Amino acid sequence: MGPGPSDVSPRVLEATARPTIGHLDPAFVRFMEELKRLLRYAFRTENPLTMPISGPGSVGMETCFVNLVEPGDTVIVCVNGVFGGRMQSIVERCGAVAVVVEDDWGRAVDPEKVERALIVHPEARILAFVHAETSTGARSDAKTLIDLAHAHDCLVIVDAVTSLGGIPLEVDGWDIDAVYSGSQKCLSCTPGLSPVSFGSRALEMIKSRKTPIQSWFMDVNLVMGYWGTGQNRSYHHTAPVNALYGLHESLVALSEEGIEESWNRHRKHHLALAAGFEALGLDLVVSEAARLPQLNVVTVPGGIDESRVRNLLLEDFQLEVGAGLGVLAGKVWRIGLMGHSCNLRNVLLCLTGFETVLAREGAAVRVGIAEGAALDAFV
Ligand code: PLP
Repeated sequence: MGPGPSDVSPRVLEATARPTIGHLDPAFVRFMEELKRLLRYAFRTENPLTMPISGPGSVGMETCFVNLVEPGDTVIVCVNGVFGGRMQSIVERCGAVAVVVEDDWGRAVDPEKVERALIVHPEARILAFVHAETSTGARSDAKTLIDLAHAHDCLVIVDAVTSLGGIPLEVDGWDIDAVYSGSQKCLSCTPGLSPVSFGSRALEMIKSRKTPIQSWFMDVNLVMGYWGTGQNRSYHHTAPVNALYGLHESLVALSEEGIEESWNRHRKHHLALAAGFEALGLDLVVSEAARLPQLNVVTVPGGIDESRVRNLLLEDFQLEVGAGLGVLAGKVWRIGLMGHSCNLRNVLLCLTGFETVLAREGAAVRVGIAEGAALDAFV
């Protein structure tokens, strides 16, 4: 129940153990088409340029920026946690100017601040933001931010590493230009793959670049030689065949459940966990309206050693939860309810674990009611 990787289901682990065939084998080529179709289902898009990049979420992030951003461009980057900061760093490494719109950690990106930045910087070509900030548990209003960007002739790059599969994400419905995700969060696959999708405006922007894409590996024109349509694929890099089997299986599981049902499941279990924490007397960092169901951030009570509690949960309950990052280090725990990990058994185990360990550590928690409150909310 950390902030990712989430638990990988046995069926996905079994899929990764299938025989390794060549990444240009005709059977594998057919399989790639199916994998792309399943990714389009998860992203809710018809974009033909939808595929998994071989690498973790950070490589998907970098792929979006290096293809769309040229030296000297202006990019508006929303920073309300660690991953917005990573976007800023990549923009600057592309030789572009990052105009940073900052919000406090734990809060959603403020659309008014974004609008002001778009007005003050008419030269900006791209707006980038994190839909679900895993470092703080805050969800931003993607649709509003995208509409603002388009009204000011900017394209959008959306980080959906933690959102995909866990909360509504509508790549076509919201008109997202470029989006990337990760295999290890709500898709519950093994880490190391980053699904991406590019819309037609983004493709136009890539085609009309004045400068070459500085990365060979992430240049989508070259990647498409392998992942593009048709049987005439050529070698680009040795694709991680077994990891792709796993991603395929996790997407089949998602489509069997139904993506809307998956969003619903995350929401229901989050409400139960939140009710349990509130009954214990613990505070959630993010306001109710901006809370991510798949990543619950809880304030460490005064006088309690954050890392000692995490270690005791791991030793006594075999339960992993995450530490705070950056300005929240030592002050919060980050508790994932992602994909296969998002179930009632985990919600109850988590509450029992915190209740037991915190009571033993001398925190003023209310003992004996959290599980009931969680079940009440769930039912
Ligand atoms: N963006 C967000 C919102 C994330 O949560 C993460 C990882 O946790 C990343 C990007 C980077 O993904 P990875 O660690 O797979 O490179």
